Amino acid sequence: MIKPSSIKIMIVMIIAVMIPVFSYTVFQFLQQDQNEHLMKTIYERQLNSILFSVNQDSWNQMLSWVSELQPLIISRSGQVPVDSRIWQVRQFISEHPPLHAVFLHGPSGCRFLYRNAATSTRDSASAQGDSLRLAALVQARSAGIRQMIQNARAGYIRPFIVPWQRSHENRKTLLVFSGDGNGVLFGIVLNDIRFIDEIVARKFGEMNEGNFIFAVKEKERDVFWYLPDTDEARPFEKRESLWVLPDLELLIKMAGTTLDELVGRRTRQNLIILLLVNGVLIGGVVIIWRAISKEIRLAQMKTDFVANVSHELRTPLALIRIHAETLELGRVKSKEKMLQYYRTILRESERLGGLIDNILDFSRLEYRNEDYPMESGDLENLVREVMELHRLRRGEGRAPFRLEAQPGMPLVRMNRESVRIALLNLMDNAVKFGGGGKAVRIGLKRNRADAVVSVTDSGIGVPESEQKKIFEKFYRSANGLAQNKSGSGLGLAIVRHIMLLHGGRVTIRSKPGQGSTFSLHFPLREPGGTTGV
Ligand code: ADP
Repeated sequence: MIKPSSIKIMIVMIIAVMIPVFSYTVFQFLQQDQNEHLMKTIYERQLNSILFSVNQDSWNQMLSWVSELQPLIISRSGQVPVDSRIWQVRQFISEHPPLHAVFLHGPSGCRFLYRNAATSTRDSASAQGDSLRLAALVQARSAGIRQMIQNARAGYIRPFIVPWQRSHENRKTLLVFSGDGNGVLFGIVLNDIRFIDEIVARKFGEMNEGNFIFAVKEKERDVFWYLPDTDEARPFEKRESLWVLPDLELLIKMAGTTLDELVGRRTRQNLIILLLVNGVLIGGVVIIWRAISKEIRLAQMKTDFVANVSHELRTPLALIRIHAETLELGRVKSKEKMLQYYRTILRESERLGGLIDNILDFSRLEYRNEDYPMESGDLENLVREVMELHRLRRGEGRAPFRLEAQPGMPLVRMNRESVRIALLNLMDNAVKFGGGGKAVRIGLKRNRADAVVSVTDSGIGVPESEQKKIFEKFYRSANGLAQNKSGSGLGLAIVRHIMLLHGGRVTIRSKPGQGSTFSLHFPLREPGGTTGV
């Protein structure tokens, strides 16, 4: 039966813990779509910021070359540099393979410089061609170039970028910068493919860590200038124009999954974790509830115990006292009556002694772990001894015990004194709850691995729901019939404790109204029976 205090605790736990957590879980379920959207946006931003970082890095690389080259190529007068510096420029170009050429376009002419390995005839021929092309381009795109110069004066350095060469295996791009603010232009010609391979792809490698797949593609056509060797056919998730080479774009996708898959998986994982947390929480709440309920029950039982025991102690004490006082006052005249008074005093002091023994046995056993001497003993012998003890205690004719012992019972390893206490308790209960004078059967038999002593009565019995609880300390049945009997609720707890100390157990078979059988199982360690004496 669930006590009102347990219900109260459960209600508090439901209000304080379960309702908030369940509400949060339901809220998360309802928010699922929004969460997915939010997560997708976050992932998309992450991909975008990776592309941004690749772009920024390659842009900075290009700018750093330009700023190193600028003082070499532009003299203070804005003229073509002297030979020693030309050599340094060529050296610089050859050390940086993505650089195809460096040029200067001033009032006095136009000049292209290539890496120093170039043969002089071809070098000068292409330099001448390139110079003419550049001069024509400056003319044709003068508005754009003017804008670039104005921007540079305002401190906003952004080159004027022109496709220089486009073929199916070669691409070059010209980047024009403002030189000195007086119409002198200078810049670089990039070898696009080497720039992609050495600068952009290097950054891809740094960002990758196996999680992403990158590519570089022409914006207008399905022509890829960088595409890793993978068999992943899924489309790229994000794209962004490559700042240095604006007719190309950077592409990115996740390796092994798509954003939608990833978001779906994450959402599912989050929900599963949430459900697991709920499960653990419910488990925890149930465990705590059971523990607290048990503590409350124990506290209640202790209170009942004090009340019971003081009542049980007082009743015989009062009887003893009244009878003794009456005797002392000399009010009892007949010898027979006197004898009856003495008998009552004796019986009640024995009852008192039994009760005190029970309480003492219990506290002794509870704290005793060592110092528990075992010896090999004959159970039948002990059972007969206890039956006799019981007969003496309860008076002749009031102990209807019938012993049914299997012949040839093996010896058992036991602590005689405590087994005596256990048997006395079982027999006391059998008489107490055994339905007034009906015979109590004591059985002794051998099971496969146990020697078993059973005490069977045909009394009120124990309902299934209480069969575990009656072995708890201080527990007394809720059954009115049982409550009428005296007792401390310690007897069966003592029996169970004793059996545990013997490595055995006590079991019950019972039907309410029909009776009960309590059995003590003693383990037999050797097949022969004598347990290693
Ligand atoms: P006590 O007998 O002092 O109450 P026990 O620990 O010996 O304490 O028993 C606990 C409870 O188990 C009893 O109060 C009673 O309700 C129930 N019980 C024990 N033995 C029997 C029995 N043979 N038949 C019916 N109920 C029993």
